[in-house]
Amino acid sequence: RAELIVVGTGYRAVGDLTLEAKACLEQADTVLCLVGDPMVIGYLERLNPSVRTLAGFYAKGKHRSESYEEMVQEILSEVRRERLVCCAFYGHPGVFAYPGHEAVRRARLEGIPARMLAGSSAEDWLFADLGLDPGTCGCQSFEASDFLLRRRVFDATSLLVLWQVGVIGMTDRDPDFDARVGAALLAERLAGAYGVDHEVVVYEASPYPVTSPRISPVPLAKLADTQLTNKSTLVVPPLPARPPDRETAARLCAPT
Ligand code: SAM
Repeated sequence: RAELIVVGTGYRAVGDLTLEAKACLEQADTVLCLVGDPMVIGYLERLNPSVRTLAGFYAKGKHRSESYEEMVQEILSEVRRERLVCCAFYGHPGVFAYPGHEAVRRARLEGIPARMLAGSSAEDWLFADLGLDPGTCGCQSFEASDFLLRRRVFDATSLLVLWQVGVIGMTDRDPDFDARVGAALLAERLAGAYGVDHEVVVYEASPYPVTSPRISPVPLAKLADTQLTNKSTLVVPPLPARPPDRETAARLCAPT
């Protein structure tokens, strides 16, 4: 019977894999994956020898949207063969990740049961590694290119997380991409709200319990000179909180 289950492998190799995701991977007729870590791929192969990677759809000079479309087509063509297909993406399969959502959506349109299981995202790990609680002052998450291009409106007194800071403006998969132009533009935009001396953090979660995550504090003035990779997420700490609104506070406390 045709079915699609999209799972996430998280970041820790392989401790982030949930028991439910592991069971799905073991039971699947076909496993497809988009996972960078060879150790995780090796583990998936041990769980299910049918594993095939979707990474070959990426190419220098090929627009990422084209690669994603081909991945979705590949997933759907397997599901249409009346197979239980499990597709594994690193991190959370539905966070800053298009093909998993799209494959689930299109499979359902064809009447094929499809679902997604949650996994640990980079943001989950940064909350843990940096000791940040999104409940303290709120948390805003943006894709960095989108943040710049659409001039996203944000609150500088709330935590700001910017994804894909190392690939701003990159539309394909280019290993020689120069991240400095985008980083300089981003620093300029952020400095308008926070000032050039505001210290931000370049964060990269560690795949292994024995190695530390990358936590590189840097003032906005030096962001463009800092090494940024396709694994970098930028954390912008908030400015001091504004005082609570008195009128709202009074209305909340007023007897009804
Ligand atoms: N689905 C992934 C998740 O749930 O975290 C996100 C995939 S998104 C296409 C790629 C972006 O995730 C990177 O540009 C970076 O912002 C973030 N990312 C990937 N690996 C990371 C790592 N090891 N540490 C921190 N952020 C990472």
